Amino acid sequence: MPENTIPKEAAYQIINDELMLDGNPRLNLASFVTTWMEPECDKLMMSAINKNYVDMDEYPVTTELQNRCVNMIAHLFNAPLGESEAAVGVGTVGSSEAIMLAGLAFKRRWQNKRKAEGKPYDKPNIVTGANVQVCWEKFARYFEVELKEVNLREGYYVMDPEKAVELVDENTICVAAILGSTLNGEFEDVKLLNDLLIKKNSETGWDVPIHVDAASGGFIAPFLYPELEWDFRLPLVKSINVSGHKYGLVYAGIGWVIWRSKEDLPEELIFHINYLGTEQPTFTLNFSKGSSQVIAQYYQLIRLGFEGYKNVMENCQENAMVLKEGLERTGRFTIVSKDNGIPLVAFSLKDHSRHDEFELSHHLRRFGWIVPAYTMPADAQHITVLRVVVREDFSRGLAERLVLDIEKVLNELDALPPNGKSMKRSADVANCHAALANGHVAKKLETDKKTNAIC
Ligand SMILES: *Cc1c(COP(=O)(O)O)cnc(C)c1O
Repeated sequence: MPENTIPKEAAYQIINDELMLDGNPRLNLASFVTTWMEPECDKLMMSAINKNYVDMDEYPVTTELQNRCVNMIAHLFNAPLGESEAAVGVGTVGSSEAIMLAGLAFKRRWQNKRKAEGKPYDKPNIVTGANVQVCWEKFARYFEVELKEVNLREGYYVMDPEKAVELVDENTICVAAILGSTLNGEFEDVKLLNDLLIKKNSETGWDVPIHVDAASGGFIAPFLYPELEWDFRLPLVKSINVSGHKYGLVYAGIGWVIWRSKEDLPEELIFHINYLGTEQPTFTLNFSKGSSQVIAQYYQLIRLGFEGYKNVMENCQENAMVLKEGLERTGRFTIVSKDNGIPLVAFSLKDHSRHDEFELSHHLRRFGWIVPAYTMPADAQHITVLRVVVREDFSRGLAERLVLDIEKVLNELDALPPNGKSMKRSADVANCHAALANGHVAKKLETDKKTNAIC
């Protein structure tokens, strides 16, 4: 902290100048998170920026808007209607918080049942695919639940429902399926999982439920694939999370978790705040947070309606196809995403003899494009992919432009002296070994898959 105060104009200038060196969010094709909203919504958000969401007494209208969002999203996910089966839900900071809450509810429910049966309840586990987002690993570690992962294989990058059900045992608190794998956008087969698990439950007398991590797919599937059964239409699906800040079309800072019914959310996890004579149940990890994102979510839901969301998602899907076909025309790539999933294109180089995906990603930065390259998890670590997420603000023109720039980069890389790459490689390997010899980055290497792969 500096000793003295500086003029506000100077503080603004210093920070604004430094921030110019950040990437341009609109060209950040790595992220699922919304980077554009309408100016009217920006205005609503700015005028709510000083409202603490948790002050429900003071801001009852904001709380009401949150409840309406929960209601609309529960309907979108086909929550059953009826006296005993009213869905409940809550707004969160994102899908990660939503998943912590859903996971806690499953863990507590399982523990209560085991206690009542007089059985041990100290070794809970959760079954997922190895393609899960890191927040599931966080949940497992923070809340002491063993994560049992179904490994992937070359050409199949989502959880295999048969293998998942094989891993289920009496200590399994739930199976988590992903609607829209972050790695290649593919939807997991929740229906098949549901059917196999019903069978296993009836054979064993267990009642292992399903959670669907629909962080990105929750706002895709209802509009593009209304017939696809992945949600509360399936009896074992007890809770679903979705990121409002991904295809919910709101800036970073909002997620949602919905439970099929009150029974699926153990009462002892809920804190009851009394406001305006009615009880406001709350179940979140955080206390204070902004209100703007909740208001923005409500804006998007009523402004766009079902029709508007459908148009946006169809548009994203069409632009993803333009990009995919452009990449296929180069003849240089294998596409590892599916046409009917999240609107994204994941692709690998066919020929790795001259350059790899990391070099391509690195060189695209020169044109302003941020396209990540990463290796797949176990057992497909030898596969590297590049991924472009197609968001609302990624137009057809930009898709065409990106293909041109990728071709330009490939031609440039082709023109390099043939040993250019092997020299770069051996330099990387030398660096790795030097770092290992120093011993100070051994831990980092564990998580740095890229460096790891080179080493
Ligand atoms: C993005 C994502 C998450 C984490 O969501 P946040 O909203 O960023 O916290 C979890 N699961 C999947 C499948 C995701 O795509």
